[in-house]
Amino acid sequence: MNQPTETLALLGGTPAVRQLPAHPSLLGDADIEAVTQVMRGGVLSGYIGAPGQAFMGGERVRAFEAQCAAYFGVRHALAVNSWTSGLVCAVGAIGIEPGDEVITTPWTMAATATAVLHWAGIPVFADIDRRTYNLCPDSVERLITPRTKAVIAVDIFGQSADMTRLREICNRHGLKLLSDCAQAPGATHHGAAAGTLADIGGYSLNYHKHIHCGEGGVLVTNDDNLARRLALIRNHAEAVVQTDDPAELVNLLGHNFRLGEIEAAISSVQLPQLAARVARRQQAAAELNAGLAGLPGLSTPVVLAGNSHVYYIYALQLDTARLGVSRERLLQALTAEGVPGLVGSYQNLHLLPLFRHRIAYGRGGFPWIGAQGNSRVTYGPGLCPAAEDLHSRSFFGLAMGQFALGSDDVAQVVRAFKKVWAQLPALRQAVSVAA
Ligand SMILES: *Cc1c(COP(=O)(O)O)cnc(C)c1O
Repeated sequence: MNQPTETLALLGGTPAVRQLPAHPSLLGDADIEAVTQVMRGGVLSGYIGAPGQAFMGGERVRAFEAQCAAYFGVRHALAVNSWTSGLVCAVGAIGIEPGDEVITTPWTMAATATAVLHWAGIPVFADIDRRTYNLCPDSVERLITPRTKAVIAVDIFGQSADMTRLREICNRHGLKLLSDCAQAPGATHHGAAAGTLADIGGYSLNYHKHIHCGEGGVLVTNDDNLARRLALIRNHAEAVVQTDDPAELVNLLGHNFRLGEIEAAISSVQLPQLAARVARRQQAAAELNAGLAGLPGLSTPVVLAGNSHVYYIYALQLDTARLGVSRERLLQALTAEGVPGLVGSYQNLHLLPLFRHRIAYGRGGFPWIGAQGNSRVTYGPGLCPAAEDLHSRSFFGLAMGQFALGSDDVAQVVRAFKKVWAQLPALRQAVSVAA
């Protein structure tokens, strides 16, 4: 037990993890070849913001979209220049108007909620499920008011939200359901691809996601009318629409959210590799589950029945009261042992200054205060107890894109956890000495 090699690295011992290869490149010769072909052709974007063929983008963009529609089993896939842009398109397409409330989760990237604000809608934060970190359907239902128009589920960390229950709630209350699957391409819920069970869903193609082209995103929908509206908002809607029917015109205020041909060409090479990348993460997660099982006060990810998990983040929880050591202290010890990709806590969007002070557009409080009257929606501590508790004390995770995930790499990570757990008394003592 007290051999010198067992001494925690934090207390001067040798780290358990040898140098692991950091963030392995996901690009190969096929990506380079695809880019070269686009460069030789000289057309870096096929888009024009006017009616006609070129309104829907260039050859590579349209080929990638067809590939995505087939891959995810959905009628329409639309490429965009980021998933943040995709979210803005989605919220606009479903017709969110100033003052409309949209319920979402505080455990997501800020873009999920700011997409609502960009249409002057009011984000409302429901609490999360302690096991999965996804929206808690009961909490969503409690927050529905006559102003609620939609719910945005987020498949956080790579596991689908409870789309079955959320769909049932949305249908019962006449709400649209959007799905932010930025972290979950390739995940499934009862056999359907994540994203395809919402009115509109989609994925991020940014550098940190499972498949990437640098910056990009994909929207998916089975609704022909919504697909048309998404395409319009993506590409200067107002300059393209030829109808003067005011009902059709709602939110057809366009942007330039167009993906370039180079990014589309890279994305087309990346997509067929998704399944293998997911399988590798699932294998690594299974090895972590087995290796970490039985460490007291540590819980490994819960995958709900009917879900497959694609492990953007391998989420863990600590029972710090039982361990007698704070999360921060344990993370220091694990970091010192060389564990890569440690994530110490997660977002609590409802506590960001933007929301707490309700200051977005100008100084007058719009959209909370504005033409539609004063919104009762407020933000701050106490709103989402499960999210806040997990955030402040017990949650941590491993960003699975941060290391190569070979069995030997995973074994080293497991060894580091076991070493730290075997030395908890030393860690407690070091704390009290330091205190
Ligand atoms: C990455 C991410 C986004 C934003 O995607 P970008 O392509 O970077 O704009 C939105 N939501 C979640 C949950 C994400 O992880």
